[in-house]
Amino acid sequence: MATIDNLPPLRDVIETHELAAKKSLGQNFLLDLNLTSKIARYAGDLSGCDILEIGPGPGGLTRGLLAEGARKVLAVEKDSRCITALEEVQTAYPGKLDVINADALEIDVSKHLQAPVRIVANLPYNVGTELLVRWLTPDVWPPFWESLTLMFQKEVAERITAAPGSKTYGRLGILAQWRCQCQTVMTLPPEAFSPPPKIHSAVVHLKRREEPLFPADPKVLNRVVAQAFNQRRKMLRSALKNFVPDMEDHIVAAGLKPTDRAEQIDIEGFCALARQIAPHMR
Ligand code: SAM
Repeated sequence: MATIDNLPPLRDVIETHELAAKKSLGQNFLLDLNLTSKIARYAGDLSGCDILEIGPGPGGLTRGLLAEGARKVLAVEKDSRCITALEEVQTAYPGKLDVINADALEIDVSKHLQAPVRIVANLPYNVGTELLVRWLTPDVWPPFWESLTLMFQKEVAERITAAPGSKTYGRLGILAQWRCQCQTVMTLPPEAFSPPPKIHSAVVHLKRREEPLFPADPKVLNRVVAQAFNQRRKMLRSALKNFVPDMEDHIVAAGLKPTDRAEQIDIEGFCALARQIAPHMR
């Protein structure tokens, strides 16, 4: 069967380099190169882009990204066993793949990338949400990347794309949708991975907005949303009691009802509330 490149099948790569999956590193590998190419295509036209990939593992998605024409891929992998496995991919695509053996939570690689940058990754489950929140909360907006195409547990993908009123609507969805257009582009059953995880997974594509959806100070918005969802079943007037003096008046002035619950408030409503209370916060 024709493959996307002339490299050995991923099962052979895993065997040759003794890459038995480690649970502690969230290692659930994608072995179907048609699937990894499909994920790469969801990231858009890669030909003029630098790609940041977190956790290339044996290189299935990396190969998809390169086969789809990425200008360059910078891959950050914590597991040193994978680094030699990726050398074969580097040889097949001369000058196009840089690999850094490091913990993605501990290094900033943005200076090694040329705009436009897209981030594409089958993220390790244990650090996926943390990385997403960091990418969504840089010191300045717009950030160094244009889009994120990321595999998460399906439950996390649902939180990212959740609408008001749904059980999964909360901080993560508000943060993501305030700053990006978010769409689940693919769901995958456990059998798509080796070893199969216990749960389904989904790929979410987030395209950054040049300006957030509605104006608000990010820190104030984050704090008020966190507080409101800390007690998501309570009415705003009690969930946000004493957040700033005269809170109930501010809720009304922002056009909301003190008897509403956090899960009923849309992003526009939270931004109005953040603008209303910003001058009253220390
Ligand atoms: N991209 C490969 C694929 O799709 O088959 C592997 C995906 S696997 C779900 C997650 C990968 O992230 C593993 O290769 C794991 O070693 C790596 N990883 C785990 N924690 C990491 C971290 N903190 N920084 C960088 N890589 C990490």
